[in-house]
Amino acid sequence: MNNTFADLKNKVTVITGGAGVLGNSICNAFASCGSKLAIVDLNLENAEKLANQLVSDYNIEAIGVSANVLNKESLKEAKTKINNQLGAIEILVNGAGGNHPKATTSVEQMVSDEIEGSFFDLDIEGFDFVFDLNFKGTLLPSMIFGKDMIGKENKGVILNISSMNAFKPLTKIPAYSAAKSSINNFTEWLATHLAPQNIRVNSLAPGFFITDQNRFLVTNQDGSFTERGQKIVNGTPMNKFGKPDDIQGTSLYLCSDISSFVTGICIPVDGGYNCFSGV
Ligand code: NAD
Repeated sequence: MNNTFADLKNKVTVITGGAGVLGNSICNAFASCGSKLAIVDLNLENAEKLANQLVSDYNIEAIGVSANVLNKESLKEAKTKINNQLGAIEILVNGAGGNHPKATTSVEQMVSDEIEGSFFDLDIEGFDFVFDLNFKGTLLPSMIFGKDMIGKENKGVILNISSMNAFKPLTKIPAYSAAKSSINNFTEWLATHLAPQNIRVNSLAPGFFITDQNRFLVTNQDGSFTERGQKIVNGTPMNKFGKPDDIQGTSLYLCSDISSFVTGICIPVDGGYNCFSGV
């Protein structure tokens, strides 16, 4: 039995949103396996900085590539650059995503008749932005980058990043919840569609990690937890937020041949949040 991630060595791996907090951790995991990395991000400066760091830390090939996951032309340009510099894409991690205050209600439940801050006051442009970033921002890169995996003797792998919101929507963030739920559905659909091509498609659902996009929701200025932050910890049987490195093992597992008969699933990496009834 192959009991290592050795098959990931030299695999051309694209990680969208790779310059972000969780993306950085996933990039480090693949770099430690000797994969050839394309860190695709809107933020080219951070992507290149990380690529340079990984080249020197792990002696691998890594490049930073600028692209907007919502723009087909920009993804096509990125693909050409990756193909020219690293070769055909074999693994895709769809890591770009996130929430935004503009798609967030200010109240958890509508306990008064006040419209402001409720569902009825949601900014539809903000809603579209978050829904598209998380859903189409996975769909489009899968379409553009996944093409390289067709008809290959070597199997292709796509890993999507879901969320706890896919299983049960959190209050306040309906666009993000709807999009992440769609990610799980899309993962199953695409896994079925691409199985005859030997392309596996899975997702992982991080629990709660404190990052730039959710810090405003879970911590106060002084670093203490907001009421919501404390609720999350109380709802997590392991009684803490996750550390970005906690998703490394599951990412490698789902992308390596170790999981060669696994497709269409979503693995929670959540300290038990999803299994806990709250009582
Ligand atoms: P992050 O904000 O640290 O990183 C996101 C990265 O994506 C950034 O580098 C950003 O520049 C890039 N990006 C944003 N829009 C882009 C676009 N249009 N095109 C290309 N790149 C773009 O976020 P994170 O916390 O590392 O989250 C990564 C993924 O994990 C997201 O899908 C997020 O929804 C998911 N997630 C995070 C948590 C958490 O607790 N942090 C929990 C569940 C799921």
